[in-house]
Amino acid sequence: MDRRTFNKSLLAAGWTAALGPAALHAATPATKIKGDLDAVTRTGGVVTLPKKALQQLQKSLRGGLLIPDSANYESARKVWNGMIDKRPAIIAQCTGPADVMRAVEFSREHDLLVAVRGGGHSISGKSTCEGGIVIDTSPIRYCSVNPQTRIARLGAGSLLGDLDHESQRFGLATPLGTVSHTGAGGLTLGGGHGRLSRSYGLTCDNVVAVEVVTADGRFLRATAEENPELYWGLRGGGGNFGVATAFEYRLHPIGTEVLGGQLFYPFEQAPNVFEAFAEFTAGAPREMAADVIALSPAKGNGFVILSFCYLGDYAKGDKLLQPLRAAMTPKIDTVGPEPYSKMQTSADANTPGGKLYYNKSGLMKTLEPDFLNIVLKRLQEAAAGREDPEVASNVIVQHLGGAVSDVPVDGTAYAHRDASYDSVILSAWENRDYDEPNINWLKDSFAEMEPYTIGLYSNHMVDSDTSKAQRAFRGNYDRLVELKNEYDPTNVFHLNANVEPTV
Ligand SMILES: Cc1cc2nc3c(=O)[nH]c(=O)nc-3n(C[C@H](O)[C@H](O)[C@H](O)COP(=O)(O)OP(=O)(O)OC[C@H]3O[C@@H](n4cnc5c(N)ncnc54)[C@H](O)[C@@H]3O)c2cc1C
Repeated sequence: MDRRTFNKSLLAAGWTAALGPAALHAATPATKIKGDLDAVTRTGGVVTLPKKALQQLQKSLRGGLLIPDSANYESARKVWNGMIDKRPAIIAQCTGPADVMRAVEFSREHDLLVAVRGGGHSISGKSTCEGGIVIDTSPIRYCSVNPQTRIARLGAGSLLGDLDHESQRFGLATPLGTVSHTGAGGLTLGGGHGRLSRSYGLTCDNVVAVEVVTADGRFLRATAEENPELYWGLRGGGGNFGVATAFEYRLHPIGTEVLGGQLFYPFEQAPNVFEAFAEFTAGAPREMAADVIALSPAKGNGFVILSFCYLGDYAKGDKLLQPLRAAMTPKIDTVGPEPYSKMQTSADANTPGGKLYYNKSGLMKTLEPDFLNIVLKRLQEAAAGREDPEVASNVIVQHLGGAVSDVPVDGTAYAHRDASYDSVILSAWENRDYDEPNINWLKDSFAEMEPYTIGLYSNHMVDSDTSKAQRAFRGNYDRLVELKNEYDPTNVFHLNANVEPTV
């Protein structure tokens, strides 16, 4: 398979480039508020928002207040997953902490159902809601880097690419996720797995300060010295404790180039590739990040990709890969010195906003051969034909461990320090007629995979009930409940991997 054929097969699978929803926000012309509006409350009731109160709110915000009549309401209500089709009563497009404080105050006054939005990439659509208020932080988008102190300050509505762009100018970086149009807000608060994690930990492990507006409308700064317990909970505990308005991150001198790229194999070689991946990662040094991605695209044969990012001497990195290359000749080999910024955007076009997506995931200590066999069996079935001829399904296994496991399990709210792998099964399709069979196939597949998992990463959660949140926060759950009782006793912020208060 050459590069052109490979690109064609991506297109056949519907993996085309598109702008993420954050790019859809245009400048907001002020909406004329003509009357009262009905809205949904925190507990599912209905409340009428008087015209005058809405006008006052609009006046007090520097950002826009959108209602269903607003010209750009339709684009602003969209999130990354096209499956989510919710219509909030109002969207407060906050430009800074003052707007967020006002929006939280207004939500409290009217006891509104509240969703908080960052980059809008929650696959289950937790950053929007039906009939309530969306506190949209996406206009809080800025980044500044201090190359002397190696600290970056980031507006909480920024995307990952914003931080990489500014820090790479100085040869610096912090661990972030693998798709640059993902929001920093949700990813950081939930943990943050990425290519630099084995060397430098999770995104949240590199957070030195978070500024947050809590449910009672207070603006707090959380660091190791100020509000340390809140600082603990905001690193992995998700959006449970308030609306983050800014993050400060520790940066690392990685330079601007890494040894990176991918080895592509035809799907028939998947059993050998999986086995080689398990062996390779079990002995890999922490400077080596590796993922395996098995794709069963629509209309055609799938393929398996090994993806690498090595921070170190290129010759040493090449030597580590030599046994893999020798054992199986890849169809395409793109591994070589590569700009880090290119690596960080390499998956962007394959994950466009607006398609219909569903996923399930689990963390694992080891990669059992039986688990890999199940993955293969399910993807083979998918390739053999399902009801929806266009659906593209894939399984991604990301190697964790290294610096992620250096942090004690109670060092931050993120609870999976003992996990060595994160596995995600994801389907993407375009025709809503196939929602049910596609979701059922994925659920059935994951039901077979789940017994091999030890927990659930909150940032990949699709349904959130207390048992799921307990699986996400494991031994840290009770401490998070204490924190929730203190900062959000009425569960204003519950559209997330929710920790239910007990007061
Ligand atoms: C294409 C894609 C690639 C991904 N890659 C990775 C990856 O490599 N590594 C990884 O770890 N995860 C990854 N994820 C998962 C990602 O971490 C979560 O989807 C994350 O929630 C996205 O954050 P967001 O701000 O874009 O999402 P949103 O949908 O805006 O928010 C997600 C959750 O966070 C809350 N939230 C967001 N901003 C704030 C804020 N300012 N204050 C309080 N709460 C807030 C929301 O209320 C919601 O509950 C990926 C997801 C997608 C769709």
